[in-house]
Amino acid sequence: MPTTSDYTFHSAVTAPSHGHGPAYWFVFQESKLLVRAAGEGAEVLQASTAEELGLPILRRQYLGELRQDGQPPLHCYSAEADPSAALPDGVSAEGLRQLYTRLDEPLFQIAGRAVQIVDWDRTHQFCGRCAAPMENLPTERAKKCPVCELTNFPRLSPAIIIAIVRHTAEGPRLLLARNHRFPQNFYSVLAGFVEPGESLEQCAHREVLEEVGIAIQNVRYFASQPWPFPNSLMLGFTAGYAGGDFVLEEGEIAEAGWFAPDALPNLPPPISIARRLIDWFVAEYGKK
Ligand SMILES: [Zn+2]
Repeated sequence: MPTTSDYTFHSAVTAPSHGHGPAYWFVFQESKLLVRAAGEGAEVLQASTAEELGLPILRRQYLGELRQDGQPPLHCYSAEADPSAALPDGVSAEGLRQLYTRLDEPLFQIAGRAVQIVDWDRTHQFCGRCAAPMENLPTERAKKCPVCELTNFPRLSPAIIIAIVRHTAEGPRLLLARNHRFPQNFYSVLAGFVEPGESLEQCAHREVLEEVGIAIQNVRYFASQPWPFPNSLMLGFTAGYAGGDFVLEEGEIAEAGWFAPDALPNLPPPISIARRLIDWFVAEYGKK
């Protein structure tokens, strides 16, 4: 299976003016991607033009080029099909979470980009200030109102996600909590959305205090991950315990605990940066 390192993606907003061969079309019905089954896996639709797809397309967007060494670049489009349209034989509409293990990784990443562009285009057809129809800018991913000049960019919602380590007499422990929305006995690291006017570090301190009532120190950046459910950017951090006892946020956190590297509960799937943070703790503090 090709991995991201074999490919580079070059984002652009204007499609080439000349015709081209088969391109990838990330076509959505609501938030579900249209794919063809291919054995255990799934394939993104390919066509030279939107008309060739044979689907009632409401809106389309050019995304850019997928390049691989020694291969001609592949153009990528996203599009929104009429949600009531019947699908061609062999094509199904599937949620992105279900496609993580079935699509090639670079295509899954572009699908996560595509679903957000499609949603933004769908929900920003009219000016939020004066209600005039918006126009797409030719050189950047933005829409501008021709009447009052209000400009809209695709919306991103940054959220911090944080692994907190506590050094105890019995050894290092990781803070994991079970959200009320999680299935039974499924634990993860803490996470929360950044508020306007807040730095990422301030957000980390506030979220941890709100959710479990403890203080943290040494907040350090770890890694980030786009999370298109629906438009988050997850910013991963590590931190140390600084003091306090658990006071769980009512309605949000059902249980929280300090877990040893060799005694972890049920964890989130490998797709998530949450799992990468937990794997980091095990690699760093588990038995060598
Ligand atoms: Zn306007």
